[in-house]
Amino acid sequence: MKTTLNLSARFDRSVFSEEISLTQDFKTGYSEPDPVRLNAQMRVIAMLVALNLIRAGHNKIKRFIVQIISMHYGVLEAEFSWAELAGLYDSTLATLASLESDTAMLQPSPEVCDKCPAILVCPAVQRLVVRANPIDTTPVELARNLDKVAMIKEYCEQFEEFCKKGLLAEPPKFAIPGYEMAPGAETRKFTDIETAKSRMCELDPSVSNALNKLKTHTPPNYLKVYATFYDRDPKDCKEAFDKLMNGQIVTTQNKSSLKRVKNEIVDARAAFGGQEPKQLAL
Ligand code: SF4
Repeated sequence: MKTTLNLSARFDRSVFSEEISLTQDFKTGYSEPDPVRLNAQMRVIAMLVALNLIRAGHNKIKRFIVQIISMHYGVLEAEFSWAELAGLYDSTLATLASLESDTAMLQPSPEVCDKCPAILVCPAVQRLVVRANPIDTTPVELARNLDKVAMIKEYCEQFEEFCKKGLLAEPPKFAIPGYEMAPGAETRKFTDIETAKSRMCELDPSVSNALNKLKTHTPPNYLKVYATFYDRDPKDCKEAFDKLMNGQIVTTQNKSSLKRVKNEIVDARAAFGGQEPKQLAL
């Protein structure tokens, strides 16, 4: 059985001696956790910890204990045999392999697909299409289509995140024709609005009236007042304004974002004889 998917799980503690292994996961939520043996997350954790212990050469362990330590429901515990762990390994591998199959019996729904790490390779989600004309659609169909839209949105978000991570990696994992990561815009804020105001009012008492009419007290708005006072373009007096505000402005950079690059899009169309490639259109 082959799969290209990776599986990971997060837990809080793993201690072991020659013969006993204890794995613990702390839960602080108010919902009652499923018992360890019935809990899919804990079964995956048990199997992955056991697999890693074997790989590290600790193959004499006889007892393999897994605990959920819940703040509100106490300690839930299960002990797994090696035979059970081997069974979990086989079934997990089978699940991963079937996830990649075009004929996988998957039934996507917003509740189960939300944040599913396999959504990018899930054939069931990739087959989702909303074809209905909203005007002739019954309320039940509308509800079904809204469910589809929720899953498609999750797929799109994860797809975009995958592309961003690849472009931002050092070195980048790939280049995407027509797309680039554009640096985020700079945002400027005052460290202390009252000090900024008093510096502006030192120019001339009339400036105070203009400042009092402002809805938001931000450096760009103050710069406009400053430029109006000197009858100049804000761009031309930014340097002098920054000098006046010396130490009163902090600059932060917004997150970079994935952007389409116009020239590259023209090239992509040219490759299809100047037509929008229909098979690629969303
Ligand atoms: S995306 Fe949804 S249907 Fe596909 S594997 Fe994940 S949970 Fe299952």
